[in-house]
Amino acid sequence: MIFRFGKIKGIEIGIHFSWIPVFLLFTWGAVAFFREFLPGLSEAGYWGTSALATILLFFGVFLHEICHALAALRKGVPVKSITLYIFGGVAEMESEFTRPSDELWIAAAGPVASLLLAGICFGIAWISRSLPYLMVLFSYLGNINLLLALFNLIPAFPLDGGRILRALLWQWKKDLRQATRIAAKAGVFISYLLFLLGFVSIVLWGDLFGGLWWIVLGWFLQGAAGSGYQQLVVKQALENWPVRAIMSQEIPSVPPNLTLEELANQLFTGKGQTAFLVQLWGEPQGLVALSDLSKIPRQEWPREVVRTVMTPLDRLVTVGPEDSAYNALAKMSNANIGRLPVLEDGKIIGLVSRQDLLDSLRVRTQMMGSRDNGPNQSSGHRQ
Ligand SMILES: [Zn+2]
Repeated sequence: MIFRFGKIKGIEIGIHFSWIPVFLLFTWGAVAFFREFLPGLSEAGYWGTSALATILLFFGVFLHEICHALAALRKGVPVKSITLYIFGGVAEMESEFTRPSDELWIAAAGPVASLLLAGICFGIAWISRSLPYLMVLFSYLGNINLLLALFNLIPAFPLDGGRILRALLWQWKKDLRQATRIAAKAGVFISYLLFLLGFVSIVLWGDLFGGLWWIVLGWFLQGAAGSGYQQLVVKQALENWPVRAIMSQEIPSVPPNLTLEELANQLFTGKGQTAFLVQLWGEPQGLVALSDLSKIPRQEWPREVVRTVMTPLDRLVTVGPEDSAYNALAKMSNANIGRLPVLEDGKIIGLVSRQDLLDSLRVRTQMMGSRDNGPNQSSGHRQ
């Protein structure tokens, strides 16, 4: 669940709900810090200061992300939204970067912003050294922003440092896929180091909280490294392939007043068909799929008709025949559906299913795999 609260330069800004436990955890952690370095406050004073510090920390994370996004916009890469997650933020860019130098610039912008912010916080702490409250608060913020910058600079894809590493490898090897693979491997390697550090912290140093924190970070990094690489492989395999080439043009149709009983019969006796176009007098009305049957109890199927369970035309998510297969896959994932009607000039001319995409993905990745040692095969990041 994401809470969206505004737009900056056309970029949607949102917070993921995982931020609520993180907010509580950080506030709780900060209370211990302020108790130690700022003695003499009331209980309410500690919690209030900690909540304030966590809100300011949140602005630090936000500034980090907005700097990535602004750098991307400057390089002509559109940014749709920024969402702040449990471990920082994610700027959702609409396309991959076109050049290694662009990626380097975009990846570095966030950590540079965090480092500058840390410097400013330490500066304020130094200026206000005669006022213990401000000094301790800003020292805390300086340290946290410094940590944020350093953590993100770990050379493990998909962290910023890993993206910087990938950009440099990409520049050097002229091969985005190979560069991503190496950077992702560095991510997995570093995640094992974090696991090791976590176990050492718990077993040898008796630091349960710190140890668990390293293990969670390592676990997060490992998952992210794997999916970052897979995503790139899928994207490269499908992005230059139009939907027209993989859609099935034959879509059997049924009338809207067909009973669900009859629909079920047609579905189970057909040739693996899982969806029908609902048509009345040659005009499309909507789409009905196998999964729609579950909306109505089995015993009512003889009485209920297709119209009541179908997805009507105006609520259908569609693709165009010239859209890329990758685009179609992204739309299916976003809407959590298994198939998309292909719409051209207001007419449904075909249907593309997740299965079609997976089949072509298998063929394409096999083709790419067999060329994997060929020269310069993955510079194909055209926009
Ligand atoms: Zn970043």
